[in-house]
Amino acid sequence: MEFDDVLDAAAPGRVTRDADVMASYSVDWTRRWSGRPRAVVRPESAEQVADVLRACTQHGVAVTVQGGNTGLVGGAVPSDGSVVLSTRALRSHGPVSADGSVTVGAGVTLVELESLAAEAGYTAGLSLASGESATVGGAASTNAGGARVLRYGSARQRISGLRAVMPSGDIVDRRTSLVKDNTGYDLTNLLIGSEGTLAVITDVTWKLVRPLTDHLVVAMSFPDVRAAVAALPTILQLPQIDAVEWAEGAAVSRVAEHSGTPTPLPAEGFWVFAEMGSSLVGAEPVLEALMSGGLDSSRIAIAESAAERRALWSFRERITESISTAGVPVKLDVGVPAERFEEFVGSITDAVHSVDADAVLVLFGHFAESNIHVNILPGAGTFADDVAGALEDAVLELVLSHDGTISAEHGIGRAKRRWLIRQRGETQLAAMALLKNAWDPHRILNPGVLLD
Ligand SMILES: Cc1cc2nc3c(=O)[nH]c(=O)nc-3n(C[C@H](O)[C@H](O)[C@H](O)COP(=O)(O)OP(=O)(O)OC[C@H]3O[C@@H](n4cnc5c(N)ncnc54)[C@H](O)[C@@H]3O)c2cc1C
Repeated sequence: MEFDDVLDAAAPGRVTRDADVMASYSVDWTRRWSGRPRAVVRPESAEQVADVLRACTQHGVAVTVQGGNTGLVGGAVPSDGSVVLSTRALRSHGPVSADGSVTVGAGVTLVELESLAAEAGYTAGLSLASGESATVGGAASTNAGGARVLRYGSARQRISGLRAVMPSGDIVDRRTSLVKDNTGYDLTNLLIGSEGTLAVITDVTWKLVRPLTDHLVVAMSFPDVRAAVAALPTILQLPQIDAVEWAEGAAVSRVAEHSGTPTPLPAEGFWVFAEMGSSLVGAEPVLEALMSGGLDSSRIAIAESAAERRALWSFRERITESISTAGVPVKLDVGVPAERFEEFVGSITDAVHSVDADAVLVLFGHFAESNIHVNILPGAGTFADDVAGALEDAVLELVLSHDGTISAEHGIGRAKRRWLIRQRGETQLAAMALLKNAWDPHRILNPGVLLD
């Protein structure tokens, strides 16, 4: 039988080869990465995923695993001629158990997971601006972080178990809510962050947490990065703190312009956004604590009602969207140790302008974790591939010279693959290759992602 017939038989009625339908699976969120798949398949169960993978392995056809396609490093973009295995139809969900766990299909979105959690009086604790589309399987595969890592950890800390299908079609079932379970190699944690290169995750067991109540959101505008770094210990000591984010004033003004909403503080210098529970403290003591730490009250805005909080957060959350309406950026997600943050942020403009003097740099990120989202927009038109590559090199070289990480939370994907050796070295890359060869000996899963 021809491969196309085998694929149709593996997932009856779930395969499309229609060019218009395939178009939305073929390009990434940033529009920087694209490919030409031979088909898109949307299996509805782990067993159907197994049949599809078995067929692809037997015929040596590459598979690109795709969840919500919100990844920012090109990992979910099909290689030419591959089958896109979309997980979006894996939508089962069980009840929330007595210990606050829930097992959901990989295609459930993060917003849907949060609603399920909220109905039972919990939060999932993972907050990404892409949560309407990003899936639980994608979050597991990239070990997604987001705004609330400070309190709830990244996806790895929230996931106690999962089910996944190996390229051979064998199913590894570790759906467990047991957090104490020392029974051999930790396959769950191996697959978390593996970016779809070892297996397809079909279900995830998520540990929910009790949310803070009555939140407060505080925005602080500092004259420069040094003043903000100096204030960080004061901010981190606020009670029930669960997020501390940052953005350059210019990034905040970009959102104000894009949304037509004026900023509550001068959109200059360096902004920090913090969120915390307020049931024990309230707005007044928070203001006092910040002022006693040397902050200027005229540069602090506090939002208490849900509508005010949403409006204030939007100046941070809508930055990515406002950049994307301005052009196709080179995007990098990096981190440096806290003590080198100021020096790094102070040097990056020169590094970028040494490659392209007209490039426009937009910086923001997760302040509590010294995580920097670097966005470089062309002065006009789009970057030629060699210029984009040189810009990436300039920034990542700077990151390594500051003892940082070339990927704080988005992963390696296709975008940073050639840099992985510089970060992890030959021995560790060889150890990763051993794992890849053992799980996926025919190398059909996500070729070109993470490893060569
Ligand atoms: C506006 C915006 C804001 C963002 N903010 C953040 C942020 O704060 N923190 C953060 O960490 N990320 C952030 N991201 C990046 C992205 O949303 C996350 O990486 C998310 O986890 C990807 O989920 P997804 O379902 O879209 O995965 P996809 O983009 O579809 O896939 C990402 C990778 O995971 C693999 N994969 C997906 N599903 C599976 C599966 N079931 N089994 C095996 N492999 C799979 C894919 O092959 C690919 O390599 C943001 C993105 C956008 C567009």
